[in-house]
Amino acid sequence: MKVLLVEDEDKIAGAVKRGLELKGYAVDTVADGDTGLSYALDPDYDVIILDRMLPGNLDGLDIARKARAEGQKAPILILTARASVDDKVEGLNAGADDYLVKPFSFSELVARIQALLRRPPVPNDTVLKYADLTLDPTHYEVTRSGKPIKLSSKEFSLLEYFMRHADQILTKETIINHIWNEDAIVMPNTVEVYIGYLRSKIDRPFSGSKPALIKTVRGFGYKLSSR
Ligand code: CA
Repeated sequence: MKVLLVEDEDKIAGAVKRGLELKGYAVDTVADGDTGLSYALDPDYDVIILDRMLPGNLDGLDIARKARAEGQKAPILILTARASVDDKVEGLNAGADDYLVKPFSFSELVARIQALLRRPPVPNDTVLKYADLTLDPTHYEVTRSGKPIKLSSKEFSLLEYFMRHADQILTKETIINHIWNEDAIVMPNTVEVYIGYLRSKIDRPFSGSKPALIKTVRGFGYKLSSR
């Protein structure tokens, strides 16, 4: 899952980026409103976090409003030092989905992000399920046929992305854009390497009795499919 964070306070931006990356998210950070808007128009972000007060011509609410007007559908979370009801209403009217008042705890931010990611098409369903596979994004647990599977954070976010887009063909480019941040050096075969790791953990150990779930679609990419 890829996150855009527009925040001008270096300390907060750095801490949030490091923390979310440890949880397996890919995070791009931007420190002013104008650059923030150009990033916020990118449809590849799965969640957008906007600080309300930003240097430049645009604040967080302006970015939210303009990004929504341009068709951005990703959930938007506004960070703010203000907590009045009017401010919240203003934020929601600008197209934001949620609102977090500074100072906030990192665990609360993660919980809010996870709640936003659980909106449709996976309504109120904490644990993702596909065939005999389960993935719990809150507790970082994966099982197949009831057996726990240990994944690295990148493998976990790759599998989470597959499960949120089950039965859809995902190109390598789409996968790179959602799983790695823009600074990451992603070689052409990096996706293949991670698909290989994932297959060795969720498909190969079960190959005697269960179908392989990660399918290669020649010339297109990959899909999670039980058919
Ligand atoms: Ca600020």
